Amino acid sequence: MAGIDKYPIIFLDRDGTIIVDKVYLNNPDEVEFIDGVIDGLKKLYDNGYKLVIVTNQSGVSRGKVSLDNLEKIHEKIKSILNAHGVSLFKIFYCPHLPEDNCECRKPKIGMVKEIENIINKEKSFVIGDKDSDIGFGKNLGIKTILLLPNEKNNESGTTEKPDFVVSSFYSAVEIVLHEYEKCNDGKDL
Ligand SMILES: [Mg+2]
Ligand SMILES: [Zn+2]
Repeated sequence: MAGIDKYPIIFLDRDGTIIVDKVYLNNPDEVEFIDGVIDGLKKLYDNGYKLVIVTNQSGVSRGKVSLDNLEKIHEKIKSILNAHGVSLFKIFYCPHLPEDNCECRKPKIGMVKEIENIINKEKSFVIGDKDSDIGFGKNLGIKTILLLPNEKNNESGTTEKPDFVVSSFYSAVEIVLHEYEKCNDGKDL
């Protein structure tokens, strides 16, 4: 099959999905991975998935998060993961306000336009804790996993219907790997 190589990619929400949501986090020293996430990311990475963070950061436009600190926060996330043998493929963020109506704020998919042609959509997933993450996955045409920790009531007012609902990041990882086996069918990726 000629053409561009396509990869299974896991699109990860940042706040409340891989790191603790500190609300307009503006200090790299406060980066705190959620329990089990690093192990989960390692498992995905070791199984050949590319890992991409997609994060709405309206705190930038609100003046609560500086671009400089945002970069440092992302460097910190990368270096912690690197120390665990996990390499992130990309981190994309939207700095705009909801009312800016930009093309990049989730659930829109403008953030990932530059890599859209290398996504193997059959084998890719989004993992996130909000409606906008699920909407993003649907708009991109990939499978969606909603993370609802602490057994918040199972729909939590969400309007988007995810493909899967889980209570921990590790469960999300197991779904990804299980689906992967199902669609891998013994063939090469
Ligand atoms: Mg979130
Ligand atoms: Zn934007």
